Amino acid sequence: MTVHGFSSPRSRADPLLQIAVVGRGFSGLMMAIALLKSVRRPFRLRLFDPQPIVNGGQALATLRSTEILNSRARDLSVSLGEPKDFSRWLQANASFRAAVSAAIPGFGQIFVPKSTFSDYIYQRFSEALAHRTDTSVQMSSDAILTVRRADDAGFTLRMAGGGEVTADIVILATGYGLKPPLETTEIRPAASLDEETRTPGHIVVMGSGLRAVDQVLQLRDGGFSGPITLLSRRGFLPQPHTRMPADAVFPTQPMPSQLREIVRFVRKACEQAEENGWSWQAAINGLRKRARTLWSSLPAAEKRRFNRHLRSLYDSHRNRLPADVHARLERELASGATVLKRGTAVKRTPTGLLVRWTGTTELTHLAADKVFDCRCLSPDLKNPVVADLLHTGLVATDELDLGLAVNSAGELVTPAGRTAGLFAIGPLGLGSLPDIDLVPEIVAQAYDAAALIEARARPQRQAS
Ligand SMILES: Cc1cc2nc3c(=O)[nH]c(=O)nc-3n(C[C@H](O)[C@H](O)[C@H](O)COP(=O)(O)OP(=O)(O)OC[C@H]3O[C@@H](n4cnc5c(N)ncnc54)[C@H](O)[C@@H]3O)c2cc1C
Repeated sequence: MTVHGFSSPRSRADPLLQIAVVGRGFSGLMMAIALLKSVRRPFRLRLFDPQPIVNGGQALATLRSTEILNSRARDLSVSLGEPKDFSRWLQANASFRAAVSAAIPGFGQIFVPKSTFSDYIYQRFSEALAHRTDTSVQMSSDAILTVRRADDAGFTLRMAGGGEVTADIVILATGYGLKPPLETTEIRPAASLDEETRTPGHIVVMGSGLRAVDQVLQLRDGGFSGPITLLSRRGFLPQPHTRMPADAVFPTQPMPSQLREIVRFVRKACEQAEENGWSWQAAINGLRKRARTLWSSLPAAEKRRFNRHLRSLYDSHRNRLPADVHARLERELASGATVLKRGTAVKRTPTGLLVRWTGTTELTHLAADKVFDCRCLSPDLKNPVVADLLHTGLVATDELDLGLAVNSAGELVTPAGRTAGLFAIGPLGLGSLPDIDLVPEIVAQAYDAAALIEARARPQRQAS
């Protein structure tokens, strides 16, 4: 095992397989774990990211160690074929065990702080690396600007700090990008809480998804007692998880092919689940298992319709809040201290936002002392490396331009066919693969990609 800072480009005489991972968020680190565990031949792995820390990316980067993930521990294993790996890790972790109730059996159903999951991923990465005495891993703090085909069928990567490196396999794991993509000079992104809580006044939180709810509750935890407006175009708030884990149930009959009938079918499945003593959450978990086949069978026009009218509703039912957190949100709304308003922010003004309320055409001024931008993140296709790859035709967008066109193992697909050796893992493939922004799906995809790399990588070069 070797881990070191970035060194020189590969020598052409290097016989080892060279793998570059662009982005070191959850997807990049997960990919590294999967490669270290699945690719048997020795290889050199380079991980690029200007973010200095290795902690699992935007999802897990939090100043507050108490902020919790919204998935149960049982859904967060990063070990293939060992769904209880994370729960076991929690049980073996003395300080975590001491901090939670001993009455919780197996830890599988609990929700954990983001920092705990981040520690787990990092430990599994370190262990996977420690087992590979034949493999080296290099961490670079450079952003990658371009990835181009090299003449030996590999790739050349250009670094923001200058210089180039080559690789046989490139894995894009750039997710939501170098910065929150919605950050603009007009609308401020979520900023340091301590500074905000010292200033009383009206706060507007843009968005109504998990990040927005998180922001509202953080403001209250930080002592902010003023009015908060949640501003969201559709106004769907996250639904609650059940108190006990809801296993997936779903009718086995074939699904209809038209969106309208599919919605009816899913509604009925939810009602039936409730009538049979399960829960609508169990039916949505079942739907998620069929989402990929369903999505690929839909014509483009139906996909577009889903995106326009139903995506935020679907998101509010699949990305759920732990029941206690949801109850807190309900209390917050019932008290009137936080209100949910449906509208779109068009422009930041010195004293608030110019808003178009949903269903109207005129613009109204919404006064705000602070604005937090917590709208849903989407794959960053304007990222220099992604934009350049689109420009050169090595990658293509999906038919809705939501992300890059990929297959289930993350291989890039273009109208000319598969781009051999190039992968995109995680949310970048969101337009091709529903739910690929969630941990269980990213874990499965990373292992699928690693298995393909193991199976397809050309034989080791002979040193010249
Ligand atoms: C707040 C939050 C909470 C979440 N909670 C859950 C949960 O409870 N359960 C669940 O299943 N999922 C959850 N998710 C979703 C899931 O974990 C994320 O979709 C996933 O973490 C995406 O990770 P990523 O590495 O692909 O992207 P990112 O986290 O965006 O990381 C991308 C990385 O790539 C780097 N990068 C970008 N461009 C370049 C470049 N050109 N060169 C080099 N580096 C580059 C960036 O600096 C960044 O570090 C959550 C997501 C968020 C944002």
